Amino acid sequence: MLEDSLKILERINQAGYSAYLVGGFVRDYFLGIESNDIDICTNAKPKELLEIFENAKIPKEDYGAVTIYYKNVRYEITTFRKEVRYRDCRHPEEIIYINSLEEDLIRRDFTINTLCMDSAGNIIDLFQGEDDLEHKIIKTVGNSYQKFSEDALRILRAVRFAAKLHFSLDSEVIEAIKDTKHLLKNISYQRKKEELDKIFTCSNIKYGIELLLGLGLENDLEIPNLSKITYTDSLVGIWAVLDSFQYPFTNNEKKLITSIQEALIHDNLDPYYLYLNGLYVNSVAASIKGISNNVVAETYARLPIHNRGDLKVHTNDLVKAFNRKPGPYLKGVYERLERDVLYERVQNEQKTLIQYCMDNYQEV
Ligand code: ATP
Ligand code: MG
Repeated sequence: MLEDSLKILERINQAGYSAYLVGGFVRDYFLGIESNDIDICTNAKPKELLEIFENAKIPKEDYGAVTIYYKNVRYEITTFRKEVRYRDCRHPEEIIYINSLEEDLIRRDFTINTLCMDSAGNIIDLFQGEDDLEHKIIKTVGNSYQKFSEDALRILRAVRFAAKLHFSLDSEVIEAIKDTKHLLKNISYQRKKEELDKIFTCSNIKYGIELLLGLGLENDLEIPNLSKITYTDSLVGIWAVLDSFQYPFTNNEKKLITSIQEALIHDNLDPYYLYLNGLYVNSVAASIKGISNNVVAETYARLPIHNRGDLKVHTNDLVKAFNRKPGPYLKGVYERLERDVLYERVQNEQKTLIQYCMDNYQEV
C-alpha cells in the first residue's frame, strides 16, 4: 500500500506539482498500524488533478477534495488550503488554495496529524509530530483555544485519537476544551455521532468515556446517561443505555435500540421474552447487565420452539377441534399456545396440544 501511495505522489510530481502523504496514514505508519484511508495533500488544484488522473472524482466540490481509486484503495487528495472565517464553528466560510505545505499544515487539528511523507519516503515533520507521537500526547497545531473555537468537532476528535491510540491530552488542550465545550451545540448531531461511534467502538472505550466525563462533556453532548454506560461490544446496545434519540439513527437501528431498552427491563433468561425478542436483542441486554452470552445462547437453544412454525399443530387441527370456522380467534389461541409451550405447561406434541386447546381455550 505504501509503495502504491508513493507511486501516486510521483505521478503528481511528474506533472510538476508537489504532493505528500499526510494525516492518519503517516501517523499510523509510524505507530505500525495498518491504515486503509489515505490522504494526500498537494499544490495541484482539483482541475489539474482531474487532468492527471482520468478516473478522478470530486465528491464534495465545496471542499475541493478529489478522490481516486487505485487497486481498490481510496485516495483522497486535497489541495493546500487556508480556511478562513469560521462563522458557525462548523464549516469554513471560504477556502483559499495556497502554494505552501506549511500553511496547509497550520490549519490542521493535531501535531500528530501533520506528519508528511514525500514520494521518496522522506518524512517531513514541521510541528514536532514525531516527538508527540513518541510521548503519546495530543497537542493542537498552534493555539488550542482557537482550534476548538474554530471547529468544536475537534474536541471529540481529540478524545477519539486519545482513546484509540491510548494517548494523553496536553494540559493546554484540556483547558481549552473546558473553555470551548459549549460550542459543541453548534455541531450537527450527525458529525458528533460519527466521532462518538468511533470512541464507543474502539478497544479503549473505557478510557474514551473517562475522558468525555473528565472533561464534563455529557451536558454539552446532551447525553446525561454517559456515566451509566456499560461496556458491550454492541454499539446499538451502548446507544440503548444512552437513550439519546436526538442523534440520528436508521429506522432499523431505532427498532433495535427500542427492543434492547425493553429487554433491559425483562429477565433475559425468561423463555417467553427470549422467544419474543430473539437471541440478539436478549444477548445485548444480558451483556449490559453482565450476564454471560453463553448462558443466554444455551437457554435460547433449549427453548422448545423458536418460531410459530415449530408448534406441532396445524390450523386445520384447531378448526376441527373447536368445530368453528377459521377467524381472528386463532391468533389468540396461537399466542397462548406459544406461551404455554415455552413455559413447558404443555408438551409440543400434536395430540397433546389439540387436547390442551380443547380443555383450556374453548372460550377464546
Ligand atoms: P482516520 O482516517 O484514522 O480517522 P485521520 O487523521 O486521517 O484519521 P481524517 O478525518 O481522515 O482523519 O482527516 C485527514 C486529516 O485532515 C487529519 O489527519 C487532519 O490533518 C485533517 N483534519 C481532518 N478533520 C479536521 C478538522 N476538523 N480540523 C482540522 N484538521 C482536520
Ligand atoms: Mg484519514
